Amino acid sequence: MRRYYFDYAATAPADLEVVKAMEPYFYEKFGNPSSLHYFGQEARKAMEEARGELAAFLGAKDEEIIFTSGGTESDNFALNGIAQANENKGNHIITSAIEHHAVLEPARLLEKRGFKVTYVKVDEFGMVSPQDIKKAITDKTILISIMHANNEIGTIQPIKEIAAVAKEKGIYFHCDAVQTVGHMPTNVDDLGVDLLSLSAHKFYGPKGVGALYVRKGTKISPFMLGGGQEKHRRASTENVAAIVGLGKAVEICKKKMFEEEKEQTVMRDRIINELKKKIERIYLNGHPTRRLSNNVNFSVEYVEGESMLLNLDMAGIAASTGSACTSGDLEPSHVLLSIGRPHELCHGSIRFTLGRFTQGEDIDYLLEKFPEIVARLRSMSPLYDK
Ligand SMILES: *Cc1c(COP(=O)(O)O)cnc(C)c1O
Repeated sequence: MRRYYFDYAATAPADLEVVKAMEPYFYEKFGNPSSLHYFGQEARKAMEEARGELAAFLGAKDEEIIFTSGGTESDNFALNGIAQANENKGNHIITSAIEHHAVLEPARLLEKRGFKVTYVKVDEFGMVSPQDIKKAITDKTILISIMHANNEIGTIQPIKEIAAVAKEKGIYFHCDAVQTVGHMPTNVDDLGVDLLSLSAHKFYGPKGVGALYVRKGTKISPFMLGGGQEKHRRASTENVAAIVGLGKAVEICKKKMFEEEKEQTVMRDRIINELKKKIERIYLNGHPTRRLSNNVNFSVEYVEGESMLLNLDMAGIAASTGSACTSGDLEPSHVLLSIGRPHELCHGSIRFTLGRFTQGEDIDYLLEKFPEIVARLRSMSPLYDK
């Protein structure tokens, strides 16, 4: 059966060019970048080239890039590292109610350890207000962490404005840009961020590798201890092949990003408009215009997200309900609850995310099958009274 992938926000397939670039670093060029001999230096050179590629892409300096195991580690690193290194200055952190769990969970743990955390609310579209951030600041605030774009509903935050508020008060600003790096501009100076998280598998690189950008002069504690790698900030032998893959993925995105953004916006809007026409009582989650070019998220009245997901899967369509990371539990998505959706609509959410390999005919198929599935499920629902 032909399969249709609409879950790029969960992960994207690696680009074949990325895989090819990685291959030699598993065997011929297998050296440890910390070794001083030929093998080590060959690996180090490749790793530093990838670092340079990423740094240039972000408008950063090479030494401001720390390679990590992915978005989750980068987020944990930012929160814990800043909290630990700046405890003497204050114990207050500001974030939003709709962050990824990789930010929310470390924030909760810090609360248990005596930090105070303000979870700023969002409006019905999932937007954080810079004004609310400003109001939440105290003289104990050491870090503000707001994501660039939300992984569930696609809303893009006013990062520049929020960063300006942070800067005015001399507070570090971290941005989880896992959903935007490689998809839209993420220049660290334009955004005004001090720390920024990214993950390669969200932009056609391999899984298990990412980076944390840390602006020069930022006081941050190391995340892992045990070796001198990454300037003593992240010990452990570097995943050279994966880092090379990340570099290649950046190089490709640099060329294709703007074109892809345009194409995906057209496809996204086609799905949104057609589904609204074909299915009654469905509600778009997230901002109508300030949203990721590849994100469609609807709440469908009288239907369970889980049922839609399984029926779509049987028809060969891969989608997501709530967040991919949380679809295993029964709690409704914290993001949908935060934008004020009632519980039934949280449970009836479905997300379609597009990417590099999505084609027009995939969308034709989706637009044919999904309304059928919703109609079938509704016909079985005792609550639905058409
Ligand atoms: C995917 C994702 C993460 C986690 O990244 P991993 O590399 O899978 O650990 C963090 N934040 C956001 C917004 C994401 O979409």
